[in-house]
Amino acid sequence: MNVVFLGPPGAGKGTQAKVIADEKGIAHVSTGDILREAVAKGTDLGKKAKAFMDSGALVPDDLVVAMVAERLSRADCRRGFILDGFPRTIAQAEALAKTLERSGRKLDCVGYFKVDDDQVVERLSGRRICRRCGANYHVTFMPPAVPGKCDKCGGELYQRDDDRAETIRERLRVYYRETADLVSFYGKRGLLFEVDASLSPSEVTETVRRTVCCAL
Ligand code: AMP
Repeated sequence: MNVVFLGPPGAGKGTQAKVIADEKGIAHVSTGDILREAVAKGTDLGKKAKAFMDSGALVPDDLVVAMVAERLSRADCRRGFILDGFPRTIAQAEALAKTLERSGRKLDCVGYFKVDDDQVVERLSGRRICRRCGANYHVTFMPPAVPGKCDKCGGELYQRDDDRAETIRERLRVYYRETADLVSFYGKRGLLFEVDASLSPSEVTETVRRTVCCAL
């Protein structure tokens, strides 16, 4: 099962990718997570990516494409993967098709997480993440039992720098300018499944199971 989760930031792609990848025993590949780790470790890639990420812009295609090609070549992707946050441009989508073709694989389907802008802003500005285990919370919709602490591991919860109001607006602008065309790109190829991502996380999981997973 080789799948892409497409949609604006804050649509819940990461949350759903974790659940479905676990259920199916396949890899969850989040380009945002890989890049944040590279920034935290201060690697070459991280140093090049940081300024783009801080401003809500996209990291250049060549860097991200090479990073994803390397990640998809690892053993844990052999049984399948969910790509979360990639591709984000037509050039990335074309590069992905070539990368997969070289290893005799192809994309099975694309789940398009549809949600409106106001909900994106509401979700992202309240999002909190555990520094230790990466679990996601929301100050209003999914608060932790103890404010600031992860229910699962007790780790500290933090707000991503790019989840602040000004940067969220810029990320949405970038989404419409660079990424939204991928909906028709994959639609034309008969790969697209639309998911109503405005629903609660458990309802969205159900929809993904019924549509994206059943199609495989
Ligand atoms: P995300 O966690 O998916 O919202 O990604 C956070 C940030 O990482 C984005 O705002 C971009 O700066 C960068 N990023 C993640 N994935 C990509 C990608 N496929 N292409 C370019 N930049 C990316």
